Amino acid sequence: MATSLTPGAVQAIQANQKPEGNNFPVVQVLGIKKIQSKNKQNSQDRYRLVLSDGAFYQQAMLGIQQNELIAAGTLAPNCVVQLKEYLCNQIHGKNIVIILNLEVVCGPLDAVVGNPQNIEQQASQVPGTAPAAMKKLTPKPEPTTASLKPVQQHTKLAAPSSSTQSKNIFPIASLNPYQNKWTIKARVTRKGPMKTWNNNKGSGNLFSVDLVDNQGGEIRATCFKETADKFIEVFEEGKVYLVSRGQIKFANSKFNPLSHDYEITLDNTSEVELCQDDGAIPTVQYNFERISNLVNGTKDQMVDVIGVISDVQDVATINTKAGKELSKRDIFVADDTNSSVKVTIWADRAEQFNSPNGTIIAIKGARLSDYGGVSLSLTAASSMEVNPDLPEAHRLRGWFDETGGTIYQSLTQQFTPGAGDSGPAPKKSFAEIKEENLSSGKPVKFTNRATITSIPDKDSSWYTSCPGKDPNDPSRNCNKKVNESNGQWVCDKCDGTFPAPKLRYILHVACADATGTAWVTLFDDVAQQLLGQPAEVINAWKSEGNSDAVLQLYKDKTFQTLNMKMLAKEEVYQGDPKVKYSVQSISPVNYATESRELIEQIRQLTG
Ligand SMILES: [Zn+2]
Repeated sequence: MATSLTPGAVQAIQANQKPEGNNFPVVQVLGIKKIQSKNKQNSQDRYRLVLSDGAFYQQAMLGIQQNELIAAGTLAPNCVVQLKEYLCNQIHGKNIVIILNLEVVCGPLDAVVGNPQNIEQQASQVPGTAPAAMKKLTPKPEPTTASLKPVQQHTKLAAPSSSTQSKNIFPIASLNPYQNKWTIKARVTRKGPMKTWNNNKGSGNLFSVDLVDNQGGEIRATCFKETADKFIEVFEEGKVYLVSRGQIKFANSKFNPLSHDYEITLDNTSEVELCQDDGAIPTVQYNFERISNLVNGTKDQMVDVIGVISDVQDVATINTKAGKELSKRDIFVADDTNSSVKVTIWADRAEQFNSPNGTIIAIKGARLSDYGGVSLSLTAASSMEVNPDLPEAHRLRGWFDETGGTIYQSLTQQFTPGAGDSGPAPKKSFAEIKEENLSSGKPVKFTNRATITSIPDKDSSWYTSCPGKDPNDPSRNCNKKVNESNGQWVCDKCDGTFPAPKLRYILHVACADATGTAWVTLFDDVAQQLLGQPAEVINAWKSEGNSDAVLQLYKDKTFQTLNMKMLAKEEVYQGDPKVKYSVQSISPVNYATESRELIEQIRQLTG
């Protein structure tokens, strides 16, 4: 026989391990039995297999995603298969093996290999085969809080009823298809809209909710047809419920961004009961990815991001392949990795989106796309939260307020104003900029010949920045604001500790052109170019009591006329729109060139 079975495979499967040699076990399928679903609604065929390594045999459930092997006739009794992924749960003292992924190695053999015995009757005689609960061989992290023992918990109910005052509350992480009497206590972190489908197999409607419990477990529950009609009014986003009964199925990671292997289908046996929110259950569970790290992601991966909205584009309408009109809106979100990414929002969300630039936004379950570099797209299953009360949000707020958030690189390759000092910058006066409609918050890039009219002497003209390297991009400086602690300067971005910070400018100066005036901000390089001194030197003069030198320098640099490439951007502060100007680069005025340009303009005017 060309194919041999793996010795000790069945024992290894029960122990959630790989057999000796660390290869995927090769076993023979002795039998296949179809299990009738007791619930006619949404019935899904399930198969029980008997697997043998020649010495022992063991029953196992076949993951439904492998059902097609049976339908196609590829997997049949006496076939030899290699198990690529499996897990063994011990439930009520019985080992329940689930095969998540197998490959048929060869077609049906003529006979059963060896004389296999039932491992369940032998287990007590075989040392070292104690099965572990909820362990699997995939790299996906196992839920650390998983426990198959239900916790006896008294729940406070809004409307107490004797039947539910005390229930066995299961951790969400422990739910699996072999439990039918379970209750979870969970917060709805997302409630999807009612959707309808209509295809050649029929029509219907459905909606889903994402549920999170006090141990951080999360799972999606979906309702179809009558059940959907029944529960759509019951579930409210943010509220806490006791949910009992329903079918537990494998989650399709293509549509379900949650970390749970399974999802719930609620049916006509399911019970859903609102209960009092004791604050023990967190709201949305985020697992934020830093924006600069998105380049390391894979296409179609679901990610959570948090950042500052740096650009909001107008709503556009596209035609879908099905011929329907669909609204979309692109926004750009930046974080303190100095990177931004395009996030596409669809349908009602695109039309109703009204958060201005500078808003902190947390997004759960955005789909990663490699279209035009890296971009993100929201799905119906994604959720968004504006100005969430999270430590990450407060950290980003501090970063944005310090830097103005104009110095970042877009991971999405397309011309985005504000995404660096590139692209055209037409000549415009301050008056022309004030005429422009900046209310979309989109930055406008322009060049202006302007004169510096005032450089105020302020201690806030620079900040204490981290002299280390950016942990996300060692070719860049960290630049995070650092604070002194016991004589050391500590950076919470790169975890560095330094004897002294690097001072970086945020210099505000007044400018005027022929049409008006504006306060503009110069960041470190540009400010240093203007003043001819790094911030350290000016700070040293001040601390030496040499304020005269500082004032003299500011005076010397005032009333210079320069060509300035600028960004004008409207931001809303405490409800009031305000145009902010930042200077991207400065260059001396070439009067000969400027004169020729003016002569050309006059010639065009006079014909
Ligand atoms: Zn740092």
